[in-house]
Amino acid sequence: MSDVNNLYYFIKSLCPESKYILNMIQKKGPIDKNTLSNITKHKMTKLNRLMQPLEECGIILGNGEGNSTGGRKPILYDVNTRDYYIVNLANVTTQYTISIVNLKAKCVAHRIFPMTKELTPDEYFTKAMSVISELMEEISISPDMLIGVGISAFGSVDRKEGKISKQSVIYISEKWIGAPLVKMFSEALNVPAVLDIMSNAEMLCHYLYGGNYDVKRFMYLHSAMSIRSAFLSSNKIIRTTNDCDDAFGHMTVNFGGESCKCGSYGCIDAYSAIPAIINQFTLKLKLGRVSTVQKPIEEIEFVDIAKAADEGDALAGEVISYAASVLGQGLVNYINLLNPDIVLLSGIIVRNCDLFCDVVTKTALKRLNKMFDNVDLKIIRNDYTMNASTICGGVIFIEAMVDGIV
Ligand SMILES: [Zn+2]
Repeated sequence: MSDVNNLYYFIKSLCPESKYILNMIQKKGPIDKNTLSNITKHKMTKLNRLMQPLEECGIILGNGEGNSTGGRKPILYDVNTRDYYIVNLANVTTQYTISIVNLKAKCVAHRIFPMTKELTPDEYFTKAMSVISELMEEISISPDMLIGVGISAFGSVDRKEGKISKQSVIYISEKWIGAPLVKMFSEALNVPAVLDIMSNAEMLCHYLYGGNYDVKRFMYLHSAMSIRSAFLSSNKIIRTTNDCDDAFGHMTVNFGGESCKCGSYGCIDAYSAIPAIINQFTLKLKLGRVSTVQKPIEEIEFVDIAKAADEGDALAGEVISYAASVLGQGLVNYINLLNPDIVLLSGIIVRNCDLFCDVVTKTALKRLNKMFDNVDLKIIRNDYTMNASTICGGVIFIEAMVDGIV
């Protein structure tokens, strides 16, 4: 991708002050110049000069009318949500989402498909290209209105090479490892593409567009088929070795403990992720324990155990509490190292099980309160008002374009 006329490269070529103004308009717009001048500390003449290339390329538009204190009403500026769009490709273990996102990080059209172990990157590419055309037709946009692609993938990525890298546990087809996703989509759609791990992309969605998280250090903890995490500090993503999203999940909490799919022993994942919970629950049933879950053992799913636990089933409660207490202990280690202001709990386990969330939170806070006098940390449960997988590619693309949080 070397087309210098592309909007992404044009914005990237601007001075940091112009990019910062664009970032503020994108986040805080509609916004007038006086407010922008207060935020950026630029005098009006300089602000006008810095905003000029943004207006000329059409990425911002002056529209609407602000509150006036008398005289002419000020023009309000915002990003152009009419002429520019981003393709979002979000892949997790259970499903993949293809959507079109506008510059305010709003999804305007989307499709969700189940992810299977058989699906190869080539088949995915063919399917995604056809769905992208379908979505563009649905919302009546032409190819020149697409400015880029944001891809988020589960596991571990090589952002520089634009590929999925070797992962500690692979749930999808092994053919994905090394597949040049960025090159494939960038060449086919003739726009730039960016790639990041799913947990970083989801964290940015929640931090920037979710709750009003006005904090410096933010941790995102995703509990589902595996335990994944992401962390940001002072508007920078703190990246793990090789950009792995399951580094926290494979932290050893029990030396020589349960064997883990990664080949190691005693990892948090081996106790707290969905496969471990199902395994423990069904194992105890086979050993003669009883439960209100009335299903053949091989058909028991996580949601059955979660529901039973929340309804007071003793065995389900015991299994969930143990899984959650291990995660809570691991979380304390992490909190002590990185000192987050907020930990946001998310993922299928968190969504479906109150008991799991209660035990994780209580375990972590109890130990922290024993260690320190003033624990100023909030552990919050995702309220699921946002479907991050429909926008996350758009969010990482916008952040890369304005040199925001990367
Ligand atoms: Zn492991």
